[in-house]
Amino acid sequence: MEIHKILQVENITKTYGKGTNKTEAIRGITFDVFKGEFLGIMGASGSGKTTLLNCIATMSKPSTGKISLNGQDTALFSGKELADYRGKEIGYLFQEFELLDNLTARENITLPLSIRGVTGIQSEKELQIISERLDIVEILDKFPSQLSGGQKQRVAAARALISNPSILLADEPTGALDSKNSKVLMDKLSSINMEQNETIVMVTHDANAASYCSRILFIQDGRLFHELRRNVKTETLTHFYERIVTVVAQLGGGSSNVL
Ligand code: ADP
Ligand code: MG
Repeated sequence: MEIHKILQVENITKTYGKGTNKTEAIRGITFDVFKGEFLGIMGASGSGKTTLLNCIATMSKPSTGKISLNGQDTALFSGKELADYRGKEIGYLFQEFELLDNLTARENITLPLSIRGVTGIQSEKELQIISERLDIVEILDKFPSQLSGGQKQRVAAARALISNPSILLADEPTGALDSKNSKVLMDKLSSINMEQNETIVMVTHDANAASYCSRILFIQDGRLFHELRRNVKTETLTHFYERIVTVVAQLGGGSSNVL
């Protein structure tokens, strides 16, 4: 089977501000993401995780280095290519859901399609498929204020996935959920990854959520610190969880050469 490299992050740095206000959020990070991977990114608060996702999403521009999707340099996208990249190739899931309060779940989910002029039967069909996968068919006519946190995040996931993006980027998607709802969300994302071969890049603090990943990059002070891989066929979530917790403990100690 051909292994397809979807995303290439090549030696990127990101510096905010100037002079005494300068923050080097990313100090040189390189990695590839392959089609169908479920990549986790872990690291302490302030280590540059959100900055990295925002650079991949083209919401922020790296100071140096290159990010390519399917072999194309994202910095060179403009006009329609850039709009397609943001609206179609990339799905983004936020910690705080970011649903529009005055739209129903159905309208929130189909919004990315409406923006691209996809409506009617085509939109209805995509809505049906993604709502079944996320088990939200029964709540489509409710407004966000009528939904629990877990339901809101599954609606947000449906919105992020309805355009069948090349990559789903998720920034702490379980950060505002209790452990039961976190597990429901992770089970759904994991099946979408395995059954639909959807590529996911997920930032998380949560070792339970991270244990669903097939590979995890650990970031410390804007640099890669360690990498873990799980053989998804043979290693259990519990065993991988224990290995993750061990690395997280090392990260906390700030000792970068013990592993
Ligand atoms: P994380 O998501 O891992 O918590 P961030 O990527 O949000 O980390 O932040 C990394 C560093 O960059 C932090 O020191 C943060 O304060 C700084 N930073 C993030 N965004 C900005 C910004 N827009 N302007 C200035 N500094 C920023
Ligand atoms: Mg963050």
